Amino acid sequence: MRLPFSLRSIASAAFAFAGASCHHAAAPAPRVASADGFVVVDAMVFDGERFRAGNVYVRGGSIEGFVDAAPPGTPVIDAKGQTLLPGLIDGHTHIGTTTDHLERFVTFGVTTVVDLFGPPEIIARLRADERTKESARRAALVGAGNLATAPKGHGTEYGVPIPTLEEPGEARAFVAARRAEGSELLKIVFDTSTNDVGGQSNAMPTLRADTARELAKEAHAQGLTVAVHTGGCGDIAEAASLGADVIAHGCALPDDDPLPKTLAARGVYLNPTLAVQLRPCGLEYWIPMVRDAEIARRLTGEERERLGKDRHDHDVACSSGRLRLVREAAKAGVKLIAGPDSPNRRIPIGASLLAELDLFAQAGVPIEQVLASATSHPASAYRIAGRGRIAKGMRADLLLVEGDARTSVRALWHTRSVWRNGALAYTAPR
Ligand SMILES: [Zn+2]
Repeated sequence: MRLPFSLRSIASAAFAFAGASCHHAAAPAPRVASADGFVVVDAMVFDGERFRAGNVYVRGGSIEGFVDAAPPGTPVIDAKGQTLLPGLIDGHTHIGTTTDHLERFVTFGVTTVVDLFGPPEIIARLRADERTKESARRAALVGAGNLATAPKGHGTEYGVPIPTLEEPGEARAFVAARRAEGSELLKIVFDTSTNDVGGQSNAMPTLRADTARELAKEAHAQGLTVAVHTGGCGDIAEAASLGADVIAHGCALPDDDPLPKTLAARGVYLNPTLAVQLRPCGLEYWIPMVRDAEIARRLTGEERERLGKDRHDHDVACSSGRLRLVREAAKAGVKLIAGPDSPNRRIPIGASLLAELDLFAQAGVPIEQVLASATSHPASAYRIAGRGRIAKGMRADLLLVEGDARTSVRALWHTRSVWRNGALAYTAPR
């Protein structure tokens, strides 16, 4: 079966969407003067690793810690029946050249995004104004900038000239140049697949293993985390042995395959991008989301229209191997990173991270690991300081949602409040 899409389309929207405008309701004025401190009381708290009951005290943009009662005179937010989480981290997106997407992310509870390939200029610009007033309603950005790829390899197909390399001897200067551009991690393309999941021939040149290995070594020597874009399961195993810290994109795992144990043994994080990889499988994970009034309100009219249509029957053979990889990896102790590779086609900004978490849960991943995949795991993998956890001294990037997330990850569909650096960044309209 031929399908009108390609798994190589990863990042295609990074540039294509650059000028697109977004339609979302302006966030209403903050209800809480949160810069002076506040206490969220009676919430179920997910601290980045596990659930606990308690009251969380925020002051001066940081988390003071769990308290028995609010200090006298401190505003209190009654969060009974709600769940408080660290602001979500989307571990794989491409924002392009606009900051509009960063504002939309916040409406879905996402306070930090990891951009795995985009124009390097924007990283430095956004980093410079991270603590300004304008940044308060935007998600923070951690960016790879230009990726490492072979001449005519993945990443070169978008009409924007980017640097490429071939030989291991070029790796040191290549990594140094990315660091000089402001890259906060190195993204390497190592993808030997010649067919995508729909059977289309789709071969593009890719880096040789010796070059990829040298790039990873140099990146580590120069203080950068290494994320590797991979094709099939064989690429994933090889990328892990070449020094990947994070594997971007999953594969259809055969039964009884040792890959999950290999990844676990090497301590490699897995970013399976399920939402994008399951698009052809007819597992219509968007339908319940689009029918949810609170999600629908935050989608653009175009997204609602595009996502709300049933396509075809669920092809279990298509989805089962990819879901198996995620389930078995989590079971083996591999730390998952949620990041669905928005804004690819049918992978909208923000909402797709919630879809990705829902898919992890459907794959059979325990809820704590599902939520860690969008909080503490990406923070650790990408060394995002002060984020991804609710603990004393952490930055007060927080998300309050309706309902008990222990029972269903879909509680995250119902955002109530989002704080960035302790300041209210978004409140759901009542
Ligand atoms: Zn991507």
